[in-house]
Amino acid sequence: MTKTEETEVSVLVSLFNWIQKTKPAAKKRSKFRKFLDTYCDSVDYFSALRLILPSLDRERGSYGLKESVLANCLIDALGMSKDSADAVRLINWRKGGAAPNAGNFPMVAAEVLQRRQGMISGGLTIKELNDLLDRLASSENSSKTPGRQKYEYCSCCNLKLGISEKSIFHEFHPDAEDLFNVTCDLKLVCEKLKDRNQRHKRQDIEVGKAVRPQLAMRIGDAHAAWRKLHGKEVVIECKFDGDRIQIHKNGSEIHYFSRSFLDHSEYGHAMSKIIEQNVLVDRCILDGEMLVWDTSLNRFAEFGSNQEIDVAFDVLYVGDTSVIHQSLKERHELLQKVVKPLKGRLETLVPDHGLNSHLMTLSVLHDKDNACNISTVAMNDGICVRVRVHVYMLSQLRSQIMAADQTGEPCWSLVAHNVDEVEKFFKETIENRDEGIVLKDLGSKWEPGDRSGKWLKLKPEYIRAGSDLDVLIIGGYYGSGRRGGEVAQFLVALAERPAPDTYPRRFISFCRVGTGLSDEELDAVVTKLKPYFRKYEYPKRAPPSFYQVTNNSKERPDVWIESPEKSIILSITSDIRTIRSEVFSAPYSLRFPRIDRVRYDKPWHDCLDVQSFVELVHSSNGT
Ligand code: ATP
Repeated sequence: MTKTEETEVSVLVSLFNWIQKTKPAAKKRSKFRKFLDTYCDSVDYFSALRLILPSLDRERGSYGLKESVLANCLIDALGMSKDSADAVRLINWRKGGAAPNAGNFPMVAAEVLQRRQGMISGGLTIKELNDLLDRLASSENSSKTPGRQKYEYCSCCNLKLGISEKSIFHEFHPDAEDLFNVTCDLKLVCEKLKDRNQRHKRQDIEVGKAVRPQLAMRIGDAHAAWRKLHGKEVVIECKFDGDRIQIHKNGSEIHYFSRSFLDHSEYGHAMSKIIEQNVLVDRCILDGEMLVWDTSLNRFAEFGSNQEIDVAFDVLYVGDTSVIHQSLKERHELLQKVVKPLKGRLETLVPDHGLNSHLMTLSVLHDKDNACNISTVAMNDGICVRVRVHVYMLSQLRSQIMAADQTGEPCWSLVAHNVDEVEKFFKETIENRDEGIVLKDLGSKWEPGDRSGKWLKLKPEYIRAGSDLDVLIIGGYYGSGRRGGEVAQFLVALAERPAPDTYPRRFISFCRVGTGLSDEELDAVVTKLKPYFRKYEYPKRAPPSFYQVTNNSKERPDVWIESPEKSIILSITSDIRTIRSEVFSAPYSLRFPRIDRVRYDKPWHDCLDVQSFVELVHSSNGT
């Protein structure tokens, strides 16, 4: 037994408590160093480090224990009654409102365990704990757990010590992070870097060993993204909503590594033949996203249905050379040479480095619809013409271009020349209900584990599904066709947060909404509001000052409600996406809003306020 293995787990627990309580980062690090020097053997740092960085340990696989199962295990082990207060607290660990620790399972469990200290036997060593965890993992792995679930289990191992993985690595050895990033092998890192004073030569990636994926930094909007990539050659890509996958091909041996570097060889059954035949080199690493393709609808589908498809957006290794040091543009060329795409199974994401595809062109036409009669049309075959057309010709022209496009291929990536192209692409992807876009510097190399901004992700912000938004109608838009001459859509607003015990005095325009109500329901609302409809011809006469709108004339209603007290509250929902708004006055608006119901029961002043809405958006969004 090594010295590390003999160390009692209680020492580790004290270390965790210390680290958590200590404030300056330097002190946290020195505690950790002291622990390594005092309680660990240099030949066996791994036994301890795997408990300190559990999410990076790939030696024993996952335990298959999510919080709910763990809660039940604890209840059984401690002989608690299922309806005792503590058992309920463990099961409902997410709930508890303002209760301390609500939503933090380890803290809730610690709280419950602390009340039973006498029942818990001490003296457990690091070896015993590792053995127990090994047993747990092996019993989990012998039962059949679908790969995707396993994948998710391991992501909940976060000790929340208030010290980053980077600091732990750095304190352990200055080259530890680098070596881990290219091998994803904590045991190897511990064994190779046991002497802190001996530097390790930077290692390159290898076929068969997972590499920590390059990641994207989140950015607020297209302008910020464009500024950040100023002067760079930029490609924009659709952000696919699947799972990151790293495919390692070594002859007929094929590995599929997930984002958290688990080897999912079970994906292989369906894909391996295709990879063998369509990846034209013997040894290669592809980086990409794995999705499911709906063969009948010809679009990406939910998991569990239809067939898997790999979209390769990068290549990291070709033949016997790592190519991560080459530029993305060069890697795109390699990717095209190395992969023979197979429709619906293996696709490559490489932009046309010459002319952009017609999709962008069509959106140019869209945008100019009402404003301008000059557009540049780039056809799929590479012909670029500048045409002068009258507005009424545009729709005809658009359908001709559509017809000229034989393939009907969606456009998933393009080289952007200005911020307008980025915005347009972003709008189109989210209208298509994709996850968002990724912007990449075409001159950049691929860096393991990097999230410093060479890749930027732009996603629509969203609010939690099921959130009810009670908004006030402040204006109306006339419909066309059947509802011509009648108000068919509403401009709705959020309230400016009123002072305590007062009613809101200003309403901030939020979004335009028309769908969701039956004809009768819509008629009833319009009839009630009709006596208060007023036309204020802007700019001759501005709308009443209790309504705040932007100067953007695009969303000005045809009629305004004379005053908020006369109006009606609507409950609206959307497909959970919000989007930063320049057209409406509130900072966010909704994509695809729908009226859920008319709230005749709610007085006008019970309208949701902007601040609460923004808080809702922020609390729903992660990083
Ligand atoms: P998210 O939940 O936003 O996917 P994340 O932390 O898992 O966040 P990020 O680095 O923030 O990962 O975003 C990059 C991820 O987006 C990749 O891991 C990959 O799974 C996915 N992705 C989809 N399409 C692309 C693309 N074209 N280029 C790069 N990554 C893509």
